[in-house]
Amino acid sequence: MSATYPTKLLLAFRSGDKCALPSCGRQLTPDGDSGNPINVGKAAHIEGEHEGAARYNASMSDVERDHYNNLIYLCGVCHDIIDDRAQGEHDYPIERLQEIKTDHERKVRQAMADAFADVGFPELEEATQWILTIQPEQSGQDFLLIAPEDKLRKNDLGQDSRAVITIGLSVARDVGAYIESISQTEPDFPERLKAGFLSEYYRLIHEGQTGDDLFDLMCSFAQRGFERQAQRSAGLSVLVYLFESCEVFEK
Ligand SMILES: [Zn+2]
Ligand SMILES: [Zn+2]
Repeated sequence: MSATYPTKLLLAFRSGDKCALPSCGRQLTPDGDSGNPINVGKAAHIEGEHEGAARYNASMSDVERDHYNNLIYLCGVCHDIIDDRAQGEHDYPIERLQEIKTDHERKVRQAMADAFADVGFPELEEATQWILTIQPEQSGQDFLLIAPEDKLRKNDLGQDSRAVITIGLSVARDVGAYIESISQTEPDFPERLKAGFLSEYYRLIHEGQTGDDLFDLMCSFAQRGFERQAQRSAGLSVLVYLFESCEVFEK
């Protein structure tokens, strides 16, 4: 067995598309926009995938083995290093890998948050390029604003998602101004934007995603495989803007 595609996507997103081993940290987003980060990064098993594998735990079920909590995002080289039966198991026991993963994901969250300060019109322009190819839909949805707290609760969002939303809201006004300025020449830009995000949102809902996983998969979608953190956070700020203006996510 191996981890599901959404699980791999989540792992890649929460790892910032970087190898989690501190001695490595290799960027795993391929150049160009055709490549998919999960093709080069590996969802490596912490407690071994099968009998005979490093750190194998016979009492675990296959579902637990392939669960997010038992996976760490690594490049191919580091995957081989930790999986080496003699040295890998000795140098990278279960607790150490869990610690490395937790540390790495925390640093990625911090870098993501810090980069909101660097989001300006050029980053927003790059992060929303793809929207110009989206067909607008005439849904006539309202722009009603509700208290973010109610919305966070309704969408069952935890601390990490809340942190992204809170900091993202600090640039929401810039996003609004940017959308307004594009609308001068591209009148249906707001509708295209909404349609682009909504189709992914409904696809994920259909897949059964909820709560923080759903939110993070939307974040992963929003940052469009960009490498530079400011561009990635520009994508996130657009998502947060839509969250706040109730265009996407449950009201
Ligand atoms: Zn492995
Ligand atoms: Zn590596």
